[in-house]
Amino acid sequence: MKGNLIIITSPSGGGKGTLIAELMKRGVGIGYSVSYTTRPMRPNEIEGKDYSFIGVEEFERRMANDEFLEFATVHGNYYGTSRVRVESLIAEGVDVILEIDVQGAADVLKKLPDAVSIFILPPSFQELEQRLRSRKTEDPEQLAIRLRNSFEEVRRYDEFEFVVINDNIADAVRRLESIILGERQRRTRQLVQIRDILSNFEASKNILS
Ligand code: 5GP
Repeated sequence: MKGNLIIITSPSGGGKGTLIAELMKRGVGIGYSVSYTTRPMRPNEIEGKDYSFIGVEEFERRMANDEFLEFATVHGNYYGTSRVRVESLIAEGVDVILEIDVQGAADVLKKLPDAVSIFILPPSFQELEQRLRSRKTEDPEQLAIRLRNSFEEVRRYDEFEFVVINDNIADAVRRLESIILGERQRRTRQLVQIRDILSNFEASKNILS
């Protein structure tokens, strides 16, 4: 059985990274697609775990080779999702999470409308600003860009199927998990197993005399 593609998006600082990290700890059985970026590595980040950090030239070479399922310039840097990483995990039957910005998320959804799409909405602008400031990962200029971009990003919530309001991490993670588990129960996503079970019933008819 193929895995589901789960697109999780929000404005920068919306909390999607934290929620996804918590979700992975709960052992829901999901894979995470590590993106490529040209953004400089932050001190707490790990190459190959948070991102594959590459230069602009290499990014553009991969772009020209059509290696990205989607890519976008976000807040002044390139970010892209590796097509092979995603496709191989899905073929193995693993649900794959893409943690991507709003424009990239909308692009993937256009190409793959069957994907599960979830928008993480921060409870207020003030909360978003507070989160971005307290994580101290951006310089003032980057912070201002991210805050300014958030106005347009939140307006696009209605392009996505699910909205999780991130007012409280524990609750939001539970809601996120319930969406992912619920999606796996869709009839149309379980046709192979269902057919096997029904053939077993068919083959067992003669047990009753
Ligand atoms: P950050 O620089 O804070 O790690 O990420 C900035 C934004 O880029 C976030 O909204 C993040 O989700 C998004 N992002 C990360 N990887 C990708 C990707 O592969 N594609 C796109 N379109 N956005 C990404």
